[in-house]
Amino acid sequence: MVLITGGAGYIGTHTLIELAKDNIDFIVYDNLYNSSKEALKRVEQIIGKKITFIKGDIRDIDSLKKLFNSYKIDSVIHFAGLKAVGESVAKPLKYYDNNINGTIKLLEVMSQFNCKKIIFSSSATVYGDPKIVPISEDSQVGVGLTNPYGKSKYFIEEILKDLYSSDNEWKIVILRYFNPIGAHESGLIGEDPNDIPNNLMPYITQVAVGKLDRLSIFGDDYNTHDGTGVRDYIHVVDLANGHLKALKILDKINKVEEINLGTGKGYSVLDVVKAFEKASEKRVNYKIAKRREGDIAKCYANPTKAKKLLNWEAKKDLEQMCKDSWRWQSQNPNGYSN
Ligand code: NAD
Ligand code: UDP
Repeated sequence: MVLITGGAGYIGTHTLIELAKDNIDFIVYDNLYNSSKEALKRVEQIIGKKITFIKGDIRDIDSLKKLFNSYKIDSVIHFAGLKAVGESVAKPLKYYDNNINGTIKLLEVMSQFNCKKIIFSSSATVYGDPKIVPISEDSQVGVGLTNPYGKSKYFIEEILKDLYSSDNEWKIVILRYFNPIGAHESGLIGEDPNDIPNNLMPYITQVAVGKLDRLSIFGDDYNTHDGTGVRDYIHVVDLANGHLKALKILDKINKVEEINLGTGKGYSVLDVVKAFEKASEKRVNYKIAKRREGDIAKCYANPTKAKKLLNWEAKKDLEQMCKDSWRWQSQNPNGYSN
């Protein structure tokens, strides 16, 4: 049985579907801080079976112990965490407590129950402003990080490596995600930001559906092909499948493996806007605004390690990502609270 912390969230729900397709048993543990039971109901609809769900917080040791006592948990996919970059700058302690303290509590309880296999959701943000793109896993990490969210990911990576050094029985995979967008092809599940979105794709879809007036493009004077920021957008279903592949190699690894999950292709903000307009047949109203603090010009993955180690590569292109993002948004203008 695989424990999925944060399994009711955007990437978690898509991963549940990949696991179910492969007949892997799982249990979802989530405090629903940034998600809803409705998302899990939709997953049940897609996979055609009931999901075991326990509402709880990863910082709650007693609740975690109860969980490990009640189920035979063999490994953990650890998605639970807060991810709003701006909020993390305003409320660093909240982020360090939830993400770092929460992960430590989870690891403590896992240790007590002799469950020593974990896949951790990290981020390309740990690379800071990379000197060379595409970025490979041996690039420098932890330098020039501009916000507590990104630092929390870097610190957790270090904690996991120290844990492994102290006890080589641990099997640890750190997945560094690039920019997940898109949604399940059914249009039943997708990204559902609580507030005004910070990320590009949900902002674009909310402009297209008429909830927001206009996209601000943060800077057109970067050193990129059209001046706007370049990122490695990856379809969330491909990303979810990467977790399944990581689960399959967990037993075989004998060091902490950090693995990029990206496509290896970089698209600019304007490329994404154009691709979205084509896929949705909607116009996206935008203006050029000043650069956003902390942003970098270019960030895209060298994904060869994932191909070699996991036998995984991203399959879906930007057009598919845009189509699926739009299907989810247009069918669910208010996300899960329709
Ligand atoms: P999400 O907010 O949709 O999902 C995270 C889930 O964790 C939510 O359901 C939330 O309720 C739950 N959660 C948060 N704190 C918790 C706690 N203390 N106890 C129990 N549950 C808790 O986010 P997502 O986009 O699905 O991201 C999943 C993971 O991947 C996060 O760790 C995030 O930092 C990481 N990540 C996301 C992105 C991205 O762009 N979406 C990129 C890189 C890394
Ligand atoms: N971006 C933008 N307007 C927005 C949101 C994002 O121009 O409203 C740009 C941002 O500057 C970056 C790219 O889109 O170049 C991706 O930003 P996002 O916040 O989605 O991801 P991240 O910055 O974490 O890579």
